[in-house]
Amino acid sequence: MTGPKWWVVTDLDGTLMDHRYDWSPAAETLRVLRQREIPVIPCTSKTAEEVERFRAEVGLKDPYIVENGGAIHGVTPRMGPWQKALGPSWSELKPQLQRLAADLGEPLRALDDLSAADGEQLLGLSGEGLLQAQRRRCSVPFVPPAESIRPRLQQLAAERQLAIVQGNRMAHLLGAGVSKGRALAALKHRLGADHVWVLGLGDSPNDLPLLEAADVAVVVPGHDGPHPALHEGVESGRFQLAAFPHARGWAEAVRRNILYA
Ligand SMILES: [Mg+2]
Repeated sequence: MTGPKWWVVTDLDGTLMDHRYDWSPAAETLRVLRQREIPVIPCTSKTAEEVERFRAEVGLKDPYIVENGGAIHGVTPRMGPWQKALGPSWSELKPQLQRLAADLGEPLRALDDLSAADGEQLLGLSGEGLLQAQRRRCSVPFVPPAESIRPRLQQLAAERQLAIVQGNRMAHLLGAGVSKGRALAALKHRLGADHVWVLGLGDSPNDLPLLEAADVAVVVPGHDGPHPALHEGVESGRFQLAAFPHARGWAEAVRRNILYA
């Protein structure tokens, strides 16, 4: 008798990686997942270029979800690489950020406009790594404004048929209805994988739609505990809380839930 067919669908920054982009504590668990042919599907704010670099480092061949659900990507043996956009393009979204800033009466700084020095300071990225993060196709990350004006910004975005989600370090402007959860549904549909069981892992508010769409959802804490926006899901028992921060917690949760080791 075989068990369920699992997919591990995971956020990267803050979840599988710490704030220095280190995933090494999960390397052995990733190796076992590869050996057992259990797909590991990144579901991230990162760009396709950034995820492709990460997949090559880890040796992943599985599909992936980029830019907070803005697009799904994969490789099929017969067709080669494919991708599908799930919302408006960067060139449609970028002018909207400036319109929102005008409505709000506060400047909003897009990631792709940051100088090398600001990119290094805010994201810990430099050189080609920063450029890969700045070349967006279907989302506009920006430096989050003060907490007190975020609700007003959310409301202004909704009026313009847009959505704003909060990740680890950046806020992200997306088309309304674009989310990690919707993108997971689109990927399952595209691959005819409605029967798979999804282990979803995340650390930030932008992961909520992924956690809600997963069959088993794990919140990975930082060194100060889980993000406050995810407390309610953990306390109600809808989400598990990993026992350790970042990659170590990720690996422990994956082993406990699907590798039974
Ligand atoms: Mg994250």
